[in-house]
Amino acid sequence: MPPAADARISPLGLTRAQYVDACAAVGIGAGRATATYSAFFRDGNLDHPAQDAAPAPIVKRLSEPCDEGITTKFVQRLDAPDSGRFADQGVPHLDIESVIIPMVGRTNRKTYTLCVSSQVGCAMGCEFCETAQMGLVRSLTPAEIVGQWWAATHIEHAEIDNIVFMGMGEPLDNIENVLAAIACLTDHRGAAVPMSKITISTVGRVDGLRKLVDVVQQPGWKRLGLALSVNAPNDEVRNEIMPLNKRWGMAELRDTMVELIEARGNRKILFEYVLIPGVNDKPEHAEQLAEWMSPFLRAEHGKHMGLLNVIPYNPRRDSPWPAPDEADVERFVHDLTDLGVYAKRRRTKGRTSMAACGQLGTEDIRKRTYVPVTTEATQR
Ligand code: SF4
Repeated sequence: MPPAADARISPLGLTRAQYVDACAAVGIGAGRATATYSAFFRDGNLDHPAQDAAPAPIVKRLSEPCDEGITTKFVQRLDAPDSGRFADQGVPHLDIESVIIPMVGRTNRKTYTLCVSSQVGCAMGCEFCETAQMGLVRSLTPAEIVGQWWAATHIEHAEIDNIVFMGMGEPLDNIENVLAAIACLTDHRGAAVPMSKITISTVGRVDGLRKLVDVVQQPGWKRLGLALSVNAPNDEVRNEIMPLNKRWGMAELRDTMVELIEARGNRKILFEYVLIPGVNDKPEHAEQLAEWMSPFLRAEHGKHMGLLNVIPYNPRRDSPWPAPDEADVERFVHDLTDLGVYAKRRRTKGRTSMAACGQLGTEDIRKRTYVPVTTEATQR
């Protein structure tokens, strides 16, 4: 069967097998489909039949120097909202943000990490986070998620080594599309990003974590990286700054994480702690946090199972809290280390261009009077 005249199938978000199947349905053979698929991901080739495959255009780019090089935030514009329900609130477009972050490793090799978004906005409502101010507008499709990697690689010409789901949105609130995107990104005939170079960062949707327990036991998924934003030493503080904790408290969260670590063959997990002055930075907080982390502090083959990144709070717009003093950050990390936690301070990059952790969010959308969509998780 000859190819249909309008056969424009985008490989974005598809595995090679899915793309070959889609092409077969319009009369394109497997050999040609595979070659097109590989050229699309490896060379950025947009030739037919993937001619409609270009990701959403980049409409803004902000760069900021840091010690390791240049941090670049780029903004892609998705199609105008189809329902028009945002247009009448003065929001002409839906934008998503991604950040390319340079890192220098122990061997002095420079690498680039791409921080991708999984949703426009977010429903989780974390008090310290800029994205939360937008509410959830909608979840991204696998193509829109993979499109961020494609744009970073083939438009920004960055050689991306690592991908972290730490941009806008809670990945486990969009778990099916995130997993489909990862299946595409790791396909050997396409982007071929190693599974171990991809990290899902979550605030701890326990239902999603339970699903991951099954996922990581499937062939090829065991090395998927995981990061958990703890951000609090106890339920009282966590309830205050992370509404999700009212649904799943810290004890249930910890039990599920233990299960997940076992399912991943005891590979280490990253924990994150945004240090907010006057909220979660007292010496007793370090003690409570070390106690909560105790199951993750045991060493396997000389390596800690849980590493803790202490992230100095990056003030969101109109933030009620300032950034912490350097001395307080050092003291908190020091206290944790004394308590046996393998803790490190994460250096802040991109704070001025609102590209740092917890600062992604589109001001236009934030200004609207839109009532955030609450998910089942935050309602309970
Ligand atoms: S910290 Fe993450 S989960 Fe919480 S509101 Fe921000 S984007 Fe959502």
